Amino acid sequence: MKEYFNLHRAHVFCQEGCSSCCEKGDYPISQIELAYLMQGYISLDNEQKTIIQRNIKNIERGGACPFLIKKRCSVYKYRPVVCRVHGLAYMCGDKVKLPYCVNEGKNYSGVYQNGEVVINPILENLDTPSVLKQLEYGDIRNLYDWIKK
Ligand code: SF4
Repeated sequence: MKEYFNLHRAHVFCQEGCSSCCEKGDYPISQIELAYLMQGYISLDNEQKTIIQRNIKNIERGGACPFLIKKRCSVYKYRPVVCRVHGLAYMCGDKVKLPYCVNEGKNYSGVYQNGEVVINPILENLDTPSVLKQLEYGDIRNLYDWIKK
């Protein structure tokens, strides 16, 4: 992932305080990643836990991640694969998936024309469910489904 980020460094302008990728999405994660995420949760202080519990109560499918507090990931070190590709353009099946912010003048916007990215072909398939299947990390569900179960 580090290598891929380095390869695309010139087109990625992610910075602290931007949380667009955590504000809407399905966040497919595996069983092992969920357990790791919960380790992150356990390490938080009571105030953060209370905020997350409240977020969980109000969680909506396709909405904000409950671990997002004041535009920051409260469990950053423990974040799953799907979060580690935030901000990157990559192959998803036979289509290039772009971050939301391409239309906000941010990531890849300098190489985005007529709905396409005009840099060398993006070959890496980082579609999270297929990556997780290869890793054999156990059952895969959207965060919403893990939490609501
Ligand atoms: S776990 Fe953290 S990085 Fe991942 S979507 Fe939630 S807030 Fe964002």
